[in-house]
Amino acid sequence: MIRFIAKAVLVAGLVILTASGVSSYNRVHVDAFGVSLCAAIESEGTLTREQQPVITRIQVSERIWMFSGRGGNIGVIITDDGVVVIDTQYENVAPALVEQIGNLTDQPIRYIINTHLHGDHVGGNAYMQQYGSVIAHQNTYDRMLSRWEGEGFPGKGDGLPQLTFRDSFTLNIGGLEIQLFHLGPGHTDTDVVVWIPDENVVHVGDLLFNRITPYIDVNNGSHTGNWISVINRVIQVINPDTRVIPGHGDLSDVDGFRTMARYLQAVRQIVQTCHSEGKTKEEILSKTLADLGEQFADWSGNRLSLALSAAYDEIVGTGSKLHASLHMISTSREPDGMALAIYKQE
Ligand SMILES: [Zn+2]
Repeated sequence: MIRFIAKAVLVAGLVILTASGVSSYNRVHVDAFGVSLCAAIESEGTLTREQQPVITRIQVSERIWMFSGRGGNIGVIITDDGVVVIDTQYENVAPALVEQIGNLTDQPIRYIINTHLHGDHVGGNAYMQQYGSVIAHQNTYDRMLSRWEGEGFPGKGDGLPQLTFRDSFTLNIGGLEIQLFHLGPGHTDTDVVVWIPDENVVHVGDLLFNRITPYIDVNNGSHTGNWISVINRVIQVINPDTRVIPGHGDLSDVDGFRTMARYLQAVRQIVQTCHSEGKTKEEILSKTLADLGEQFADWSGNRLSLALSAAYDEIVGTGSKLHASLHMISTSREPDGMALAIYKQE
């Protein structure tokens, strides 16, 4: 099949030499069924940094794989009627992604889903569109279009989603029902949750940074309060055995997803407490992960101040316009005592 013809590709330090049929980097293949993710990684000797695998993959369920590389985690759903790819990382990673998928199946790529608009999730769209149509939230389309118009990208229009929706979308393919939901602003106002009930797998995009401080993108509609609500609503749909593919970090589960909500709740709580004590925004922004709680102290990334700033503006009301349109309609109390606010956007 021509679309899976192997090529020699140089991708950001990744060299895939397939002419000899042998890859120059170590293949990482993890069987997710009862096997420790770390223990099962196969290694083929010491590699230099440049030789480290850019794309690694683990099998998440019978028909779903998670590919990890330079950008956001990619979901690959293989059905008897074609392949669905969730997120596309970067343009220069996409050819290697296609080749890797071709190593798993002869089925053609038929659809691509974007979990949100960020470049490390949609960067490969234009390349991938030779294989299938891109599905995304309407806000992803709008924001990609306006950004490109504003910055005068030469490839204006390239990679724009062809199929968009606002609330929900169902893709039926190869006997699988793939459900897409938008539950209001969270990481951005373009977020899509991809739920595949028959495989008990959900890809939540950057609504989950697994043990990594999340990027709070206020300019693209992020809202920490509603983000907590979104997580809570997804948790009500999935179950303790659901495998949760995060936007960044290792494959996770319901507890991992709930911990993201706890982080955001802790951020909002510390802002609320400090504000009521009369502390300035600058003083609040100087808080550390350890101040939030022991469970967050070893998280990687250095984006706490972004979250504190966004939460401050939401709570004190000096920034987010979204705040005015969000109304807390109820709260639920978790077993550990953490209250989760449920917001509704008017
Ligand atoms: Zn993102």
